Amino acid sequence: MKRLWIETVGCQMNVLDSELVVAALRREGWALAGTQAEADAVFYNTCSVRQHAEDKIYSALGRVRLEKEKRPDLIVGVLGCMAQKDQALVRARAPWVDLVVGPGQLHQVPRLVAAIQAGAGPQLEVSFDRKGKSRDEIARSFESYDPDRDPGMRPTPFQAFVRTQTGCDKFCAFCVVPHVRGPEQARAPETILAEATKLVAEGCREITLIGQTVNSYRWADGGRTHRLADLLALLDGVAGLDRIKFVTNYPRDMTPDLIAAVRDLPKVCHYLHVPAQHGSDDVLLRMKRGYTIGEYMEMLARVREELPHAAVTSDFIVGFCGETDAEFQTTLDLVRTAGFKNSFIFKYSPRPGTKAFDRLPDDVPDDVKKARNQALLEAQAEVSLAGNLAFVGTRQQVLVEGLSTRDEKKGVQPGPDGVAQLTGRTMCDRIVVFDAPVRLVGRLVDIDITSAGAWSLAGIVADGLADAVPLDAVRVHSIAPLTKPSTPAGV
Ligand code: SF4
Repeated sequence: MKRLWIETVGCQMNVLDSELVVAALRREGWALAGTQAEADAVFYNTCSVRQHAEDKIYSALGRVRLEKEKRPDLIVGVLGCMAQKDQALVRARAPWVDLVVGPGQLHQVPRLVAAIQAGAGPQLEVSFDRKGKSRDEIARSFESYDPDRDPGMRPTPFQAFVRTQTGCDKFCAFCVVPHVRGPEQARAPETILAEATKLVAEGCREITLIGQTVNSYRWADGGRTHRLADLLALLDGVAGLDRIKFVTNYPRDMTPDLIAAVRDLPKVCHYLHVPAQHGSDDVLLRMKRGYTIGEYMEMLARVREELPHAAVTSDFIVGFCGETDAEFQTTLDLVRTAGFKNSFIFKYSPRPGTKAFDRLPDDVPDDVKKARNQALLEAQAEVSLAGNLAFVGTRQQVLVEGLSTRDEKKGVQPGPDGVAQLTGRTMCDRIVVFDAPVRLVGRLVDIDITSAGAWSLAGIVADGLADAVPLDAVRVHSIAPLTKPSTPAGV
């Protein structure tokens, strides 16, 4: 039996893609390797959103070269966004790479691996660039990759990502996603419903719908257009499903019907990731984000009115081309006043192929970017702490996800009574840590919140553990080579 090691960087899309690639290769007789050293194939599923993510992969390729020299039969693969963006450049920089496959061609991986094993030499499969062909031709070259799921390959058996669409058509000036993930293409509602129903039958209790701009979802069928609100209503009716989340949202598509769906559908989590990216109209214009900060705040006010307890989170870019001190101050002011639960904050990283890269100088010095990044992190930490402190003394229902980061890092083995420090999430996506029996993993449990930090809550299991909703056939296991996403899908 051949063994595979796969490392995944980037967003939930990549985590899901890795899950599906592994499942496809398992059907061809492959198994996951316990360590990279014992693998017959080493794959990197890559991200191109920031230079740093690409640098990490080229460093990893440098390290795997030594292994490849010792074992020429080792198959080294680069999958995902970097494969689409850099294409032949990957092999020019790392000629020991055997396989380069873009995100729109992942269905070809088993065939390409078999070809390499049969001696056909290095294989490259990518989709068309977004210039020089019709939209339809380009869209067809980014094939949806949603084969049957393998329940053993999900990071946990009770949670799953479900793709609603691929690609993006927004073309924000800084973003490489429309180029590497292709045109926006939705999946049919009935296909998504069938996948969710199957996942629930396999023990899944929470699904997270993912799309680069998930709330732009649009499926036209027989004169009717289905939007994300319609899809949520459909999924809310799936018996046995407890929670539905969706990421990432584009501010202008946070429509009243969607907010009403989140308010009215009991299984939909009150958690909305809606990246603002900046607080200044001038910078938003340079970013080509397509809205003003006034329009963003109007959207936020509608969310707060209809969903007063919802957690809203954001992404921000600091040090974008030409960002002045005064413009940065507007982002700081936004973070101090908007009440985001948390924000993902990034220093601007110029991406070849984007409008900003071609037309705007990357003129904010790196030390200024770092200082602004730090200042924004500190401002967000204060806001997050204040938001979390309001939960102390309340009782929250959490879905127990597994060992806390602390106990996972320590490699803690639960004691004879099976107790360890566990972590779970509330309906509004707040992380809660608590000591409890490991058998509760995968269950909904009430926790009394006793203290709060900026990034998590702590608590104790509430009276009446017997009320914890049992999950049939809980299988707590880890598939080490698959990692948790470092950012939400989309940016
Ligand atoms: S930032 Fe988001 S909306 Fe803009 S192009 Fe990138 S993925 Fe699309």
